[in-house]
Amino acid sequence: MCEGPDFKSAGGHFNPANVSHGTESEEGPHAGDLPNLEVSDEGSIQKELTAERVTLKEGQENSLLKEGGTALVIHAGADDQESHPSGDAGARIACGEISR
Ligand SMILES: [Zn+2]
Repeated sequence: MCEGPDFKSAGGHFNPANVSHGTESEEGPHAGDLPNLEVSDEGSIQKELTAERVTLKEGQENSLLKEGGTALVIHAGADDQESHPSGDAGARIACGEISR
């Protein structure tokens, strides 16, 4: 799932409703779209956020616990919240698998 260095193995954005990318998109957002993170000059961040369009309840269409797995991916740049397919956010720089 999370095979570096490009993490493309994680696949596209989590999008069970087959809509468009971005919270600023009229036909979006993807269920897995998240807000941008502001990282300190030292490169660290501590942030708590809620992903309200997904669940960890198995068997539901928007469940992150599904066959084939899902992952949380961080891109290097800012997401413009409307460009396809991933907000023109640049390279994938971190990846974490979501599993039971
Ligand atoms: Zn997206």
